Amino acid sequence: MEKTVKTTCPYCGVGCGVIATVTDTGAVSVKGDPDHPSNYGRLCSKGAALAETIDLDGRLLHPQIDGRRAGWDEALDRVAEKFAEAIAEHGPDSVAFYVSGQLLTEDYYVANKLMKGFIGSANIDTNSRLCMSSSVAGHRRAFGSDTVPGTYEDLELADLVILTGSNLAWCHPVLYQRLAAAKASRPGMNVVLIDPRRTMTADLADLHLALRPDTDVALFVGLFAHLVANNAVDQNYVAAHTAGFAETFAAASNMSFAEVLEQTGLPAMQLREFYRLFTTTDKVVTCYSQGVNQSSSGTDKVNAILNCHLATGRIGRPGMGPLSLTGQPNAMGGREVGGLANMLAAHMALESADDRDRVQRFWQSPAIADRPGLKAVDLFQAVAEGRIKALWIMATNPVVSMPDADAVEAALKACPFVVVSDILMDTDTTRHADVLLPSLGWGEKDGTVTNSERRISRQRNVLDAPGEARADWWQLAEVARRMGFKDAFAYGAPVQIFQEHAALSAFENAGERDFDIGACSDIDRQTYDALSPFQWPRPAGSTPAEQRFFADGSFYHADGKARFIAIEPVACDRTDTAYPFTLNTGRIRDHWHTMTRTGKSPRLSAHIAEPFAELHPRDAMELGVGNAGLLEIESPRGTVIVRALITERQARGSIFVPMHWNDQFSAKARVDVLVPPIVDRISGQPASKNVAVAARRF
Ligand code: SF4
Repeated sequence: MEKTVKTTCPYCGVGCGVIATVTDTGAVSVKGDPDHPSNYGRLCSKGAALAETIDLDGRLLHPQIDGRRAGWDEALDRVAEKFAEAIAEHGPDSVAFYVSGQLLTEDYYVANKLMKGFIGSANIDTNSRLCMSSSVAGHRRAFGSDTVPGTYEDLELADLVILTGSNLAWCHPVLYQRLAAAKASRPGMNVVLIDPRRTMTADLADLHLALRPDTDVALFVGLFAHLVANNAVDQNYVAAHTAGFAETFAAASNMSFAEVLEQTGLPAMQLREFYRLFTTTDKVVTCYSQGVNQSSSGTDKVNAILNCHLATGRIGRPGMGPLSLTGQPNAMGGREVGGLANMLAAHMALESADDRDRVQRFWQSPAIADRPGLKAVDLFQAVAEGRIKALWIMATNPVVSMPDADAVEAALKACPFVVVSDILMDTDTTRHADVLLPSLGWGEKDGTVTNSERRISRQRNVLDAPGEARADWWQLAEVARRMGFKDAFAYGAPVQIFQEHAALSAFENAGERDFDIGACSDIDRQTYDALSPFQWPRPAGSTPAEQRFFADGSFYHADGKARFIAIEPVACDRTDTAYPFTLNTGRIRDHWHTMTRTGKSPRLSAHIAEPFAELHPRDAMELGVGNAGLLEIESPRGTVIVRALITERQARGSIFVPMHWNDQFSAKARVDVLVPPIVDRISGQPASKNVAVAARRF
């Protein structure tokens, strides 16, 4: 009998609704859900090809121990025993989880609860660290909470949309489609793209600022100074709702127009036009993504943007405000449950004794982590140094995606005990597992995810679990029980976990914390199954509503005021004579992360069939490489060999290589072997967009 479910795309942070159908012969088809308020029926090429990526070829269908098939009991016993042994001998900080924005919120919740509340360490970090942790840190500094104020609708209502560090056309394609449609219907809308590359998104932009890498801080600090100099500051708003303006202005006053030109390398006319547009347009939305976040100054970039919105009072109202675009389908859900090593559950603060006490009382747990754990880069360095004795990796492929990827692989080889939960048997990471646990994939999973505009949607299963694959939350709960934490992990279904997560968000929360979905605290199975997408907050007693945060000018710092952050731009040209090119890494339109799923679709692979390096024609000429010729790119960390794609879209002296290809699809194409483990000092997010490399014809 045919079965149809409404579910959610598992790729980017747009979080599109999908209608999936499976026929009685097992054929699966997908189409966009016209009722989902994030996509209204649209899907991009990746979402539309979902059915081509779910075959069982290469699936991990049974647990394995040391490469041999094992039963669940034996595998779970082994994991629990090894983790307990490490904790007993070396303490709770000798173990770690490295999880993923691919996990559902229910999986994430159980992982975080086990590590922070029962093992008693905060050594749980996620690949979302590589995605949006600078935005989290910037939001917390400015707002006192990790709150995304805006909505997708704001993009459509704005008169000026600024896309900075965002190739929206390829990385958030349905949002790009919504923006393009809005601009077509209101040609007066202006779009400004800020990106060193002339990406496909530039085709929509009225103005493209191709600034030097990592000079966005100078650009926005200069904008702040310009707003003050041109009387564009909303003095009433600043006085009533903010603090720190004077110090921020003092720091910005050094950033003259000439200095911004000098640092960014922009033409004066373009810079003047950008500042004019921002100064004179009321409805401004600034979207920022990995080009902002993946930087050694990522948090400062975020705050430099937020400063300009706060100075003009353009936040919390329709068609205006900052909007961080998350890369992953559930980066937001991970933040909600405290899936980062420096956060506690339900947007509570790990550094707050009151919050720790509250969470511990709610969980009735034997312990609570009392200091931040290891962030992703530090975590794998700790593994390399032998400080982590047992590591559990879930739903991610760090041997391809982490900076210094070869060092990560060496660390895993040396780690005494590695568990990997995955849907695939053979990835660059699963090869290093002592225990492999088969997980559910898209179409089989059941739970919730949260997209970039705080919209919680259900992922529902249209397919039965293949082989012995089980949910990640179940695996974690079973290990927790075996470690002696029985009652706290006695979950029988994801709805029970969601209920608990919702109840924690509302626990002793009389509006002091932004994340509150208390209305779902007593949700029953039937209501959970039928749950329509909704935006948080949704406190008890409320009905679903489209809601912008900060409409009343009230923020989450103790005094209710937002904070301006004084920022000093620092130059960060990392090139030298040995490594004269700047490498930028990123996504392409039709592949997702390390291609373990999208690589299965011939249609998606046809878009761009091989790994490549975009470079400027004059650089190509000087290197003596022609189009599709092989190029060897080297950094002090490693080497890749990819085909040259010569294009004037790329600035001179810069190279772009996509992040996706792994060793199974192309030897020597894991670009993250080139990226050094340089991170933002506050967020710990790696700087994957500004890497000094050498290039030569191969
Ligand atoms: Fe999926 Fe993102 Fe494409 Fe939507 S835009 S279909 S969420 S990949």
